[in-house]
Amino acid sequence: MTGWLDPVRRALDHGRPRWFFRDDDAGWDDARLASLIDAFRTAGVRVDLAAIPAAVAPRLGRRLGELIDEGSISVHQHGWAHADHETSGRRSEFGAGRPASAQARDIARGRRALAYLLGRQPAPIFTPPWNRCTRVTAGLLPPLGFTAISVDASAPPSGISGLTEIPVTLDWVRSFSRGGRAGLARELHRAAAAPGDAAIGVMLHHAAMGDDDLAALRDLLSLLRERAASELTCMERLADENSLTPVSPSGHGARAR
Ligand SMILES: [Zn+2]
Repeated sequence: MTGWLDPVRRALDHGRPRWFFRDDDAGWDDARLASLIDAFRTAGVRVDLAAIPAAVAPRLGRRLGELIDEGSISVHQHGWAHADHETSGRRSEFGAGRPASAQARDIARGRRALAYLLGRQPAPIFTPPWNRCTRVTAGLLPPLGFTAISVDASAPPSGISGLTEIPVTLDWVRSFSRGGRAGLARELHRAAAAPGDAAIGVMLHHAAMGDDDLAALRDLLSLLRERAASELTCMERLADENSLTPVSPSGHGARAR
């Protein structure tokens, strides 16, 4: 039953054609993560997982490594421990309250830990927890081997040389919890119909998604698969191609989590 997606279906013929899906917080709620990955594997669509290095158990790491080899998923780094270090204001693991040296230590050990757990190098992309970090943080990334950063489309680009911006444009859980399928369809339509040619980034949080969310997600994946005009891409591919042509973020804001 995909009638709820009719507004999106219409926009797909004329709107921005490329989509990617970023699921955050791998390491939390492995059972829910497995269900989400199943939805993508069944649809034949690759999903980008933002994994919390300190939270990924060895068993999950091995499984994710197998799925990377299979081509079903791509895994990149989501901070270090998803810990809030700010004493006031908005939550952040890589905020102004921490010196660059402490941030660099956490990013580097997260990269090492994730490579060990997966048995291979993760994609060279950094998604900061809660979708936010400082410009100092972004500047630390290229020397540590990262080529791309993913935050909210409403955030100003970091402007760091050698670092591609791959913003997310839509917060699935927020849209779905506020407006159900109708609310989600409105947000998806808005993202699909927005001007510009930047890929539409759908941010997911498997640990906060119930069976209804997953059913709606399956509907959307199946719609995008059947529309020849839609191209399902992934962040790794965008990072590669955008190292030649920078993406200009567009679209409306998605809440950080
Ligand atoms: Zn997160």
